[in-house]
Amino acid sequence: SEQARYAVVGNPIEHSLSPRIHTAFAEQTGESLVYERLLAPLEGFRDSVERFFAEGGAGLNVTVPFKQQAWETAGRHEPRAARAGAVNTLWRETDGTLVGDNTDGAGLVRDLRVNNGVTLAGARILVLGAGGAVRGILEPLLKEAPAEVVIANRTLARAEGLRDLFGDTGAVAASTFEALLGPFDVIINGTSASLQGELPPLPGGLVNPATVCYDMMYSQAETAFNAWARQQGSGLRLDGLGMLVEQAAESFLKWRQVRPDTGPVMAMLRPD
Ligand code: NDP
Repeated sequence: SEQARYAVVGNPIEHSLSPRIHTAFAEQTGESLVYERLLAPLEGFRDSVERFFAEGGAGLNVTVPFKQQAWETAGRHEPRAARAGAVNTLWRETDGTLVGDNTDGAGLVRDLRVNNGVTLAGARILVLGAGGAVRGILEPLLKEAPAEVVIANRTLARAEGLRDLFGDTGAVAASTFEALLGPFDVIINGTSASLQGELPPLPGGLVNPATVCYDMMYSQAETAFNAWARQQGSGLRLDGLGMLVEQAAESFLKWRQVRPDTGPVMAMLRPD
C-alpha cells in the first residue's frame, strides 16, 4: 500500500525541524509514512491545505504565520484547541471533516513536568506575551492546577483579553511588564522578542534560585531571555526545543495512535 503523506505548512518553512523529527518517529515506531515541507503563499493557505488533502494527504502540522487561519479552516476542533483560536495539527475524518487540534500546550506541559520534573500544581506561573503561542498553552497549563497564572504583555489589552477568555478555568491575571511583582515559580517566555535578541522590560525580583525559566524559542546559542534568567539567578533554564519535539510526538499520536519515545530524538537534535 502507498505510504501515508504528512507535511508541515508555513511561510517560511525551509528551516523547520519537523520533517527530521517526524521521520525519526516513523523509523522508531515502524510506521510507514513520508513527511515533507509545504510552503504556502501568504495569501493562499486555505487553497494549499485543500489541495494537500484532495491529493490524499493524511495530516498537516501548521506553523508561523498560519495557526490562526488553520483554526478557521478546520470544520471541527478538539476541545483543547477550541478556545485557543490557533491550530497546529490538522487531519481529515473519514466523513471528510477537517479536524484541528493544538498540541503546543500539551508539548510544553510534558517537557516541563515529565522531561524536567517541574511541579506545576500549586505553582505561581508568569507567562510573557499574549500572541498565538500563548493562546495555545494557557488551557493545558491551567489544567495542571497552578496557584496562579499571570499573563504580562506589552499591549495590556491583549493580556486582559486572554484573562477574560481563560479566567473561568483557573486563577488568571493580566499585567504590564513594569507592574509585575515576583518571585514566580515558573516563568515562560512566549513573546517573539527573543527572535530579535530582545527582552521585554522586566523588573527585578521576579526570579529566585528555585525559579524555572522557559523560553519557548530555541536556538543553538543561549537566548536573550535565558541569559537574563541566568543573570537573575535562575537555577533551571530551558529553551523550546523540548516543547517542539513533544508537540510533534503529541501530533504523531493523534495521527498514528502510537506515542513515539522523544528522548532519542531530542538527543539527535541536541547532542551534548
Ligand atoms: P505572535 O506574533 O502571535 O505574538 C508575539 C508576542 O510577542 C506578542 O505578545 C507581542 O506583544 C510580543 N512581543 C513581540 N516583540 C516584543 C518586544 N520587543 N518586547 C515585548 N514583547 C514583544 O507570535 P507567536 O505567539 O506565534 O510566537 C511567539 C514565540 O513563541 C516565537 O518565538 C515562537 O518561535 C515561539 N513558539 C515556539 C513553539 C515551540 O514549539 N517551541 C511553538 C509556538 C511558538 P504585543 O501584543 O504587545 O505586540
